Amino acid sequence: MACATWLRSSSLSHALLPILCHRTSLSTTLRRFHRLSSTDRFVPYGNRFKNPLMAVHAQAKRGFSLKEDEVATPADLYFEAPLKIVEYPDPILRAKNKRIDTFDDNLKKLVDEMFDVMYKTDGIGLSAPQVGINVQLMVFNPVGERGEGEEIVLINPRVNKYSKKLVLFNEGCLSFPGIYADVERPESVKIDARDITGARFTVNLSDLPARVFQHEFDHLQGTLFFDRMTDEVLDSIRAELQALEKKYEDKTGFPSPERIKTRKLRKVAAGFGKS
Ligand SMILES: [Zn+2]
Repeated sequence: MACATWLRSSSLSHALLPILCHRTSLSTTLRRFHRLSSTDRFVPYGNRFKNPLMAVHAQAKRGFSLKEDEVATPADLYFEAPLKIVEYPDPILRAKNKRIDTFDDNLKKLVDEMFDVMYKTDGIGLSAPQVGINVQLMVFNPVGERGEGEEIVLINPRVNKYSKKLVLFNEGCLSFPGIYADVERPESVKIDARDITGARFTVNLSDLPARVFQHEFDHLQGTLFFDRMTDEVLDSIRAELQALEKKYEDKTGFPSPERIKTRKLRKVAAGFGKS
């Protein structure tokens, strides 16, 4: 999730990752295959369920993934620093994100790199799929400054409870550079997750931390912030989304895997789970 002062710097620091380097060729091949196959299997918004949890289930049934709780392999967690932000409409943002069950040094390095790129792009939250790693991991710091506020790492998070009270907030997203619009979400959430050591914990979040968490949690379900916008709000950023689609096509040579133009009109934003 982006804060209001978007994109101060695009230069990223370098860090080396010797672990798993021998997997480079295999993982690169797998990633290429994954990108293409997830494009082929993309489910247009109009065909998706309003409830993102149901959407995930539906994707699993369609063969998008064999199991809802598929566990990430070392190849799934392989990365090269510096990480780069994946922008809409890259199908990586809609792909299934696997559960993490290995809490090792590689995971700690990935988390460090995610915080690094988050701070350098003026973000306050970042999910793993946004840096091309399709696993259930998010980091955030509502203050958005290294050394200030609290750095929060959530692995395999689940929402136990949403508040009934909904609030509007002008959201940005690092995968949608420069685009901001109002999104309505529950004011508070009760969640459980694992920390970087694998320990389970439960926490109640409200206000901005709840907002950032829900935005990043959506990423882990393949849901993007504009999926939750009303048509009226969406109209205010439609041209900017189409510009990103064009940018993707120019860069990759592939047709955009989704188009905001074909999104079905609807009266209410996507629903939430338990409340
Ligand atoms: Zn985002």
